[in-house]
Amino acid sequence: MPGPGSYWIGKEERKEVLEVLASGHLFRYGDLNDPNFTRKVYLLEQEFARYVGTPYALATSSGTGALMCCLLAVGLKPGDEVIVPAYTFVATYSAALFLGLVPVLAEIDSSLDIDPADVERRITPRTRAIMPVHMLGNPCDMHSVLAMARKHNLLVIEDACQAAGGSYKGRKLGSLGDMAGFSLNVFKTITAGDGGLVAASTEQYYKRAFGVHDQGHTPLRAGVEVGRRSILGLNFRMSELTGAVALAQLRKIDCIISTLREKKRKLKELISNVPGTRFRKLNDEQGECATLLTVLFDDPCHAAGVARALGTKTVDQSGWHVYANMEHVDRCLEEIGQPHGKGAYPRTDDILSRAINLSVGVVDPGLGAAFGITINSTDQEIAQAAKRFRAACNGAIANGKTFTGRNRRKRQLAQTQLS
Ligand SMILES: *Cc1c(COP(=O)(O)O)cnc(C)c1O
Repeated sequence: MPGPGSYWIGKEERKEVLEVLASGHLFRYGDLNDPNFTRKVYLLEQEFARYVGTPYALATSSGTGALMCCLLAVGLKPGDEVIVPAYTFVATYSAALFLGLVPVLAEIDSSLDIDPADVERRITPRTRAIMPVHMLGNPCDMHSVLAMARKHNLLVIEDACQAAGGSYKGRKLGSLGDMAGFSLNVFKTITAGDGGLVAASTEQYYKRAFGVHDQGHTPLRAGVEVGRRSILGLNFRMSELTGAVALAQLRKIDCIISTLREKKRKLKELISNVPGTRFRKLNDEQGECATLLTVLFDDPCHAAGVARALGTKTVDQSGWHVYANMEHVDRCLEEIGQPHGKGAYPRTDDILSRAINLSVGVVDPGLGAAFGITINSTDQEIAQAAKRFRAACNGAIANGKTFTGRNRRKRQLAQTQLS
């Protein structure tokens, strides 16, 4: 199974869904004062806003839809540039591209999140926003991102799709920027199969996002809409059945995250100090979601050997999140004159070629996390995984031919080209 929430689907989700079915109200709208209307989507929005710490939240049909609502709600127009990381899920790019925006890719750093220093280099007179992605549950360096945004008068939209439940310096992810999008698909910290959430920092953003998600209507379709629709919308609505599952999952989120942190701490302890490896940088050790444990090797051949031995892949070889593996995005970037294709972001290429994602809560070969543990792993299973990992690391070294000067030179070259 993919994400931690999916392992914990149980009687709570069943109860919420059955209440909806018994009521017969499957559409998100109804009379909030009618006791027969179980209003799960409405409750989800209220509870999620309170949880994240923003004045408003909006439920959507997907994370992709949530991001599109954000980008439109803050007023971005075709041709506006949005700075995004070169390592992220395709939807970060496609949400922008479908709105005629120009995604400008920036390098990542050893946190596997966007590198704020590289963001600054990519600002042009057309830049309107930064969309930092809290990749694999690791909060971005929001201190630097927000400082940069203030300095250059840019909007910040957090792509928090992989990071519901995480925090940065005591504030929940999704509450730091102007708006944020979350996903409830099956690979995320909590899930309803599919679904999404928007967090909004102002009433104006919320109203506009609401309109985008529901054919231009005012929030909750209150009042008379004809003559009052200020925005052309689409349909990204969530159904009551999805809302019911999401509500039950939201009520488990803190327990899910704390369990992941506990399991990850154990695994990390058992595989620290392996020669030639370190862990990726965490921008907030206490706040990260702990869905994965990313190991960075000094040498890409060592990483590839270990991955092979464990039946998994280095991150650059995985399919889902690597800009260089997105032929469908390449075509769009080509059209709008943005750098694309392997080699366009050499520091990202270098880091990802030396990285292996070990699963802790998200088990997903698509992001190179076919090996590791799950949210339900016992201490014995964690010890077993650690033992196999250490053995693979030692084996890959023993097999030799790993630390060749050629690779080291290539990496140095990539790094100097950037500076
Ligand atoms: C999952 C994800 C999305 C999109 O979410 P969906 O619910 O699948 O549409 C967007 N951005 C990132 C970084 C994601 O991981």
